[in-house]
Amino acid sequence: MPSAAKRLRVGISGAGIGGLTLALTLSQYPDIDVDLFEASKSLQEVGAGVAVFPRPWKILRLLGVDQELLKTCDVKPKEGPGQATRSPMPQAKVYQCLQSSIAKAISLWAYRFRRSSPMARSMITLHRAEFQSALLGRLPKTCRIHYSKRLRSFDQQQSGPIELAFEDGSRATCDVLVGADGLKSATRAALLTERVSWMQSQGRPDEAADAAECIEPWWSGQIAYRAVIPAERLRKVSPGHPALTQPLQYLGKRGFVMAYPISQGKMVNFAAFTMRHDLENTKYDAPWMGPADKSHFAGLFADWEPDVQALVHCVENPLSWAVHTVKPLRSFVCGRVVLIGDAAHAMTPQQGSGAGQALEDAYILGLLLGHSSTNIHTLGRSLNAFDQVRRPRAQQVARVSRLAARYFTFEIDGVGVDFSADFGHPAAGSNPVGWETLQRLHHEVVKNWEWAWNTSVDESIQEALSML
Ligand SMILES: Cc1cc2nc3c(=O)[nH]c(=O)nc-3n(C[C@H](O)[C@H](O)[C@H](O)COP(=O)(O)OP(=O)(O)OC[C@H]3O[C@@H](n4cnc5c(N)ncnc54)[C@H](O)[C@@H]3O)c2cc1C
Repeated sequence: MPSAAKRLRVGISGAGIGGLTLALTLSQYPDIDVDLFEASKSLQEVGAGVAVFPRPWKILRLLGVDQELLKTCDVKPKEGPGQATRSPMPQAKVYQCLQSSIAKAISLWAYRFRRSSPMARSMITLHRAEFQSALLGRLPKTCRIHYSKRLRSFDQQQSGPIELAFEDGSRATCDVLVGADGLKSATRAALLTERVSWMQSQGRPDEAADAAECIEPWWSGQIAYRAVIPAERLRKVSPGHPALTQPLQYLGKRGFVMAYPISQGKMVNFAAFTMRHDLENTKYDAPWMGPADKSHFAGLFADWEPDVQALVHCVENPLSWAVHTVKPLRSFVCGRVVLIGDAAHAMTPQQGSGAGQALEDAYILGLLLGHSSTNIHTLGRSLNAFDQVRRPRAQQVARVSRLAARYFTFEIDGVGVDFSADFGHPAAGSNPVGWETLQRLHHEVVKNWEWAWNTSVDESIQEALSML
């Protein structure tokens, strides 16, 4: 580890989107030493897409990563607030879908993010590997990345450096440890295990039990099947397929499909989700991630409309993810150890915001640690400001993301939309109850998501800095 002459020595466990962004933010402060400890032998992102909304995009711009990323996408992102609308299918088309779907006992509604809508214009879609290499490319050599360093545990005493122990038996020290080590975070496990023992020793069994629930992730009831489809392959099967040029989402009672162009339109990101709300917050006892067989999910979408069929047809070598989340923590901080990104608040992906929230955590924490008033003695105040500003926001995003999965599977106020209700025939000029319900669903989806393009990250930054 580096010389003790530096103002602060920051150790980061995990070089994912959160860890890399934090290191990049801290690299602006020459008197802060940064060591990134990454479990893998090298950095390799999964071949899939990632959506980024205006708040995290602003951060990427402030860090100077935007220009590199803009080369990879053909949609110019819009910053700042926009009017919240999304364009559902025309009524006549919804009616047709429902007629055929009800007959097959599968309910279906398609939903397009029209290119011209503020939602689509504010969403930028990237290839994960390109995203990661853009971050890595900006990182100066002064930020040291140590590969094959899987954190096992840490030891923090009242004073003196924090001691880190790695799976390979090696050790390191730092003044502040940031757990950016993802969903299965070893930092979170060590931090909460310590908290549970302390609470038990203080005779607070309920709080101890509460903290213990947050150590391991819980299954959301969702399985995501992801693949990247070469645009040419899709074009051959379905010339003019809407996912070649715009984000597209198909919703159904038991699952949904999302597709959008990435890598300057050369690829199409595909994600199909199967959803079991009744299994939310249970344990998933098969491997969480791995290669999947198309037959695992194709059957569910077999009766969906031709656009979906074409996408499923083009999928090769899909990967499956049992989507897990972390229950809301009471604090992201314990002494001089702090959690960011999925380690702190892994959430369901229905608002396309897990990585965005990791970026916000990383940037704001970086500014707080880098602030001239932060040193080893005032660290507690800076970490507290981080927790006060970031925890409510990230946990709120996790809540609305869960709610979005309910809406995407046609549930409002906890009640499923009844597709046997009268949807009427638009041609007959009726204004049936079912149609109104769908309109309300549309309204709720948009309202629930508006924060992503109607709020600015500047306010959170100001709020955090004003606490110093
Ligand atoms: C199906 C799906 C779709 C998604 N779509 C989107 C989207 O469109 N937009 C969006 O914003 N988000 C999306 N997300 C969420 C997003 O992928 C995550 O929120 C984001 O990657 C979290 O970043 P992170 O840096 O916190 O963690 P990670 O990306 O998981 O990085 C953690 C890093 O820590 C390393 N590590 C793990 N354990 C240790 C250890 N013990 N010691 C050292 N290193 C360790 C890992 O190797 C890894 O490099 C999606 C997620 C899923 C599952």
